[in-house]
Amino acid sequence: MRAVDLIGRKRDGGQLSADELSWMVGGFLTGEVAEAQMAALLMAGVLQGFSEAEARALTQVLLDSGETLDLSGLRGPTIDKHSTGGVSDGTTLLVAPLLAAAGAVVVKLSGRGLGHTGGTLDKLESIPGFRTALEPQEVLRIAEEIGCVVAAQTQKLVPADKALYALRDVTATVSSPALIASSVMSKKLASGADTIVLDVKAGDGAFMPDTAAAEQLARLCVSIGVGAGRRCAALVTAMDQPLGRAVGNAIEVAEAVELLGRPPAGRLAQVALELAVTGLAQSRGEQGDEAIATARSGLIKAWESGSALATLARMVEAQGGDPSVCERPREVLPAAAVTRRVVAQEAGRVVAVPARAVGELAAGLGAGRARKEDAVDPAVGVELRAEIGDQLEAGDEMAVVHARSQEEAERAAVRLGELIAVDPDGASGAEEPILRRIS
Ligand code: URA
Repeated sequence: MRAVDLIGRKRDGGQLSADELSWMVGGFLTGEVAEAQMAALLMAGVLQGFSEAEARALTQVLLDSGETLDLSGLRGPTIDKHSTGGVSDGTTLLVAPLLAAAGAVVVKLSGRGLGHTGGTLDKLESIPGFRTALEPQEVLRIAEEIGCVVAAQTQKLVPADKALYALRDVTATVSSPALIASSVMSKKLASGADTIVLDVKAGDGAFMPDTAAAEQLARLCVSIGVGAGRRCAALVTAMDQPLGRAVGNAIEVAEAVELLGRPPAGRLAQVALELAVTGLAQSRGEQGDEAIATARSGLIKAWESGSALATLARMVEAQGGDPSVCERPREVLPAAAVTRRVVAQEAGRVVAVPARAVGELAAGLGAGRARKEDAVDPAVGVELRAEIGDQLEAGDEMAVVHARSQEEAERAAVRLGELIAVDPDGASGAEEPILRRIS
């Protein structure tokens, strides 16, 4: 095979076989295929489109590049959950203990925040002592004992995705449904769970701004998962505004703990509950209305009884963190040096809280990173007090900035005041966060 021939065929709209994709990616990893050639193939694929068969083949190629986690020895159904990334998307902190409290086992290998999006590992590491770098044996032990564990993906899992993603990141070739689906699903298949539930975000703060494109991506991921013999379902959820009220690390953990301490309410709780319901029903091989209702009532019980919060505390302790974070989050978690209120200048409805810009603002305060090597500040970020559809009076609090200095707080507050749009004639009604269900 010659890389130049494969690139030419893709450029002209042709298809590559599984063997050809395997040869190309394998050659890229060994250096036999030049980085420029791999990049050219990716760009040809982004422009011409990859077929579903190519997406499946690429998933397998990525999966075969590394080790996989064997969860077959664990008690109970194993469920994994994945979000394509967003702002104030603390669903893992809710879904993992919730499913564990309902008898499932969740082994979640998570990532870090990049750009305007947050990452679960950064959030959990804001808990004093919490460790995310776990050996596979420790992951399995905690999963068995507690029912849930959230750890960093090891270097040995899907190494080809890491190399390919780094290249895609700098060659404007991230935004291809087939490339995203194969990247996401290879990691999910390698993580070993029987059931996979996906949260594909749509909107200004997501990879896929458009709901139809997000649905197409979700369908492709589900089809790859099912083709690989897993139970798989997806929700397409709105990411036009931050999902929860906190955008940062420690403050997102505090929000999750506080949410689990009272009956489920609000958009973040709604999406987390539906992801858990979807995952639990799928894991039982059931999708009818009755099965969904049974799963939902069990999960609401686990939430309202405090059992999910107690499970989160046990997971935190098992991973070296201070479990009292689940009783007194605001005392245990690091706090920013300065807080600054942002108030509405006029009365009206909130009509926009742009997710991407708010995420970038929080990252700029230190909550996120521009490059992978950057460190995050666990304490800083933004707490929103209003969401789209809320009625505000002049002087009502719209947000609180948590910052390292007065100067940074002031700058962020001015910018937030511009970003949160209030319209005296704006429409009432909350934004529905769940846009599509795919199973
Ligand atoms: N998340 C991933 O894991 N891979 C992608 O390609 C995009 C988002």
